[in-house]
Amino acid sequence: MKAFFTDDQLLHDPQQYMRLGRIHKPADLPSRAHALRDALALRGIALEAPRDYGRAPLEGVHSTDYLDYLETAYTLWRELKMRGVEPGIEVLPNLSPYYSGTPGVARAPCPSPSVVARTGYYISDLSCPLGPHSWRSILRSAHTAVAAADAVLEGGGAAYALCRPSGHHAHRDRAGGFCFANNSAIAAHRLWDRHGRVAVFDVDAHHGDGTQNIFYARDDVMTVSIHADPSNYYPFYTGYAHERGIGAGEGFNLNLPLPHGASDEVFLQAVDRGTAALRDFKPEALVLALGFDSYKDDPISVLKLDLDAYRHIGERVGALKLPTVVVQEGGYMVEAIGPALDMFLSGFEAAR
Ligand SMILES: [Zn+2]
Repeated sequence: MKAFFTDDQLLHDPQQYMRLGRIHKPADLPSRAHALRDALALRGIALEAPRDYGRAPLEGVHSTDYLDYLETAYTLWRELKMRGVEPGIEVLPNLSPYYSGTPGVARAPCPSPSVVARTGYYISDLSCPLGPHSWRSILRSAHTAVAAADAVLEGGGAAYALCRPSGHHAHRDRAGGFCFANNSAIAAHRLWDRHGRVAVFDVDAHHGDGTQNIFYARDDVMTVSIHADPSNYYPFYTGYAHERGIGAGEGFNLNLPLPHGASDEVFLQAVDRGTAALRDFKPEALVLALGFDSYKDDPISVLKLDLDAYRHIGERVGALKLPTVVVQEGGYMVEAIGPALDMFLSGFEAAR
């Protein structure tokens, strides 16, 4: 199996993360990527650097004004001086504009050119600080997903994208939950361009809200997400079972929220429900949004999976025998994510 990553993805080094009214050290540490890389090396899988595709593959799922913002925000921020106040070391919002719109439809561009206004408009929470090199990492993480999709399109069967920063909370025009560009959606769009009928299966502990939103009105891209009950867990506002899609997309989004504390058995039952729905949909290719923050000792987990669960998830996804791009999403216990990836790949490869 080919796997992709570039050291450019380590440049994003967030310093601040506000949670429960306190500033914490962020959970998305560059060392996460090292742990995953080391696990791949033990399996004899060497990482290849993606080529530089520029912004074009991101434009397929994100709005131009949003990408313009991400690319320029840090520079504009550092130039700010408001009433004698120096800006902080990273771009962070201090506004949360009200929005009520149609899922799957991008908003109009931010009406104000102010970087303060645009930061509130495009960054939805306080887990997504933009530092001096964040854009480079965001762009290159997306390229890693594109390169994995291209490897699958070239007949590779399956490929792994070691994406960091993660992507599945990024909407068409909004960052959130450590995510800026939706790598899984970008990979899906790449596959769709060739195949016309693809699915995204998200097994991260959090609802893949950005991915759902991007494809919500579509009947040619199915989205299935297994995650902890969002009524008391990020992303809170979406991820409920009654969200089934809209318009032509009705019936092509499936959410399988699980009670907090759910064990391997409960999670794997949901995986079986998800794969059954995918078999009914009959996609030509699959993106697996793979997170390890469902592990019982993960610092932000409310699920209780053992490492062995990832082997069983791998078996079930591998048994679909679809061209598959595996995109790395969350997982924040640095000591656990390498073994979790190894478990997943051993199950996945054995089943194919
Ligand atoms: Zn997560």
